[in-house]
Amino acid sequence: MYSWKVKIGDSLKRFLFEHAGIRGEIVHLDATWRAVLERRDYPPALRTILGESMVAAALMSATLKFAGRLIMQIQGRGPLNLLVVECTNNQTMRAMAQWSNDLPTGPLSVIAEDARLAITLDPTTGRERYQSMVELSGQTISEALENYFHHSEQLETRLWTTAGNTCAAGMLLQHLPLDQGTDEEAWKRAVCLGSTITSKELLTLSAQDIIHRLYHEEDIRVFDSTPVGFRCSCSRDRVIGALRMLGPDEVESILDEKGLVSVDCEFCNQHYRFDSVDTKQLFATDIIPLTPSSVH
Ligand SMILES: [Zn+2]
Repeated sequence: MYSWKVKIGDSLKRFLFEHAGIRGEIVHLDATWRAVLERRDYPPALRTILGESMVAAALMSATLKFAGRLIMQIQGRGPLNLLVVECTNNQTMRAMAQWSNDLPTGPLSVIAEDARLAITLDPTTGRERYQSMVELSGQTISEALENYFHHSEQLETRLWTTAGNTCAAGMLLQHLPLDQGTDEEAWKRAVCLGSTITSKELLTLSAQDIIHRLYHEEDIRVFDSTPVGFRCSCSRDRVIGALRMLGPDEVESILDEKGLVSVDCEFCNQHYRFDSVDTKQLFATDIIPLTPSSVH
């Protein structure tokens, strides 16, 4: 784990190996990662997995060709029960994980036992939602994603990810399909050089410096960096929509039992509360907007 201060910020940089059919990306998560850490006290072993998953999702989101979001999900029988990372095409992110209390230390295969990895592409409008799911395999998030790309997308992909106490970072290389002029030797060389990057370098060097450190002898085209940030898409209106789906009887019975309908967002810890007056309004024929004063 690395905890020193860096001033790289939250950014994603894409680069291309000219004439070699290889694309690359480097991402740094700084405040974005801390925003997730501040909201829940994750055990150290899970923190690494969650941070590296956020890095991987940000790297994968760079090629989204529609307005919408990429959702990376790990579902297991425990100790890690659920991990969800969402990243939009504008690189706003949110993430959460649920685990059982006795989380051991160890590699991914121990923490996420008998788990599945799903990647969902969820366009905001127009296009169909697409999901691809594989058995989770590998000792690290990078290995799990490499296996996913190999089996599900038939794209040779290499990832290097790392997460510390204050920042997380990673790099992706992807071999483009043959018709885009793939050069086998260039791919091997790019991976071989990429494998020399250390976690410390990923966390402390800027994307430009990493590209220079690894590939200064290659013909590389570097694109402008794009910002990355934490943003949760939850809202009182969305919670109201979900409660209306539950129906008046269900909501009424929660109200009877607890005196209050309380919904907490697991991504950002925002609390949404509905008292008996609020819930009556939920199902009134003439829907009146709920007053902001009932948001706590
Ligand atoms: Zn939220």
